Amino acid sequence: MKKITDIFEQKKFTLSFEFFPPKDKQKTEQLFETISSLKRYDPDFISVTYGAGGGTRGLTLDLCERIQRQFSIPAMAHLTCIGHTRQELKDIIGGIKDRNIRNILALRGDIPKEEKTGKDDLQGCYAYQLCKLIRGMHKDFFSIGVAGFPEGHVDAPDKETDSKYMKIKIDAGGEFVVTQLFFEPELYKEYIQRIRGLGVDVRIIPGILPLTDYKSLTRFCRLCGANIPPGVHNLFTSAESDEQEYKIKVGYTSNFCIEMLKMGAPGLHFYTLNRVEPTSDILNNIQKVQRIY
Ligand SMILES: Cc1cc2nc3c(=O)[nH]c(=O)nc-3n(C[C@H](O)[C@H](O)[C@H](O)COP(=O)(O)OP(=O)(O)OC[C@H]3O[C@@H](n4cnc5c(N)ncnc54)[C@H](O)[C@@H]3O)c2cc1C
Repeated sequence: MKKITDIFEQKKFTLSFEFFPPKDKQKTEQLFETISSLKRYDPDFISVTYGAGGGTRGLTLDLCERIQRQFSIPAMAHLTCIGHTRQELKDIIGGIKDRNIRNILALRGDIPKEEKTGKDDLQGCYAYQLCKLIRGMHKDFFSIGVAGFPEGHVDAPDKETDSKYMKIKIDAGGEFVVTQLFFEPELYKEYIQRIRGLGVDVRIIPGILPLTDYKSLTRFCRLCGANIPPGVHNLFTSAESDEQEYKIKVGYTSNFCIEMLKMGAPGLHFYTLNRVEPTSDILNNIQKVQRIY
């Protein structure tokens, strides 16, 4: 199975989809139907999130393995270091290798409210330490991606400091960046400038969240610290019917993606929320303007 960095050697642009592990068998089968439908867009890789808080952790690797087996699409397993001991992480990383999953998104994870402490625990760790651990264990077996925050990470004092920490992740073995969701194209431009100014030249792939219902969107953005600009708030009040609201939201995200492409984004990574639409409708719209799959 290919590493994402091998795909980069062959392609200037990548399309990728992100899914989260469903909690039951029926939803898992629905997810595979979703992936089956989205496969027609020829994704270069598929990523599966990791439940830092527990719960679905074990499912991430099962899903990655099945995606690779069933669809022959390279999978990227998200992995968070928070709350794990070094030995636990070593075992998980070994397990990822044993399943021939060649791509890891190395993350810290969000700090849980109830702090867990333990001896040799990587609690209080940073993603760069996970990058180092993976690289140290298995040299070049894995492609390692890291998370990027065009608006700065919520815990960081400012964007500049956050960007400096980004460089540390890349120096520790990170080979590309997938960004947190954001809604203003200018933020991507500024982020690229900031990161390039520090001498980091890896691919920075914007993470795209198709606009969902208002309640979920505001909750999601509150959790990850993403700002919802007034223009996006207004989209939800301007529609006269659900159908019209859907069209407006799809149109907004499609235009956002087209702006990303104009700015030279080397890929689009869709947070699909395990649904075919609206990602499929957005991709159909983009394809009318620029061939991406
Ligand atoms: C594309 C993407 C996918 C994600 N997938 C998941 C997932 O599957 N599961 C999940 O639980 N979470 C996921 N997250 C969320 C992520 O785990 C959180 O945003 C987390 O709070 C930060 O993770 P990080 O890897 O960026 O951490 P880090 O890079 O470690 O940064 C965390 C904070 O510490 C600061 N920092 C970094 N290095 C240093 C240092 N050396 N010294 C001092 N401060 C430092 C940073 O500025 C930042 O404020 C994802 C995020 C993105 C963007």
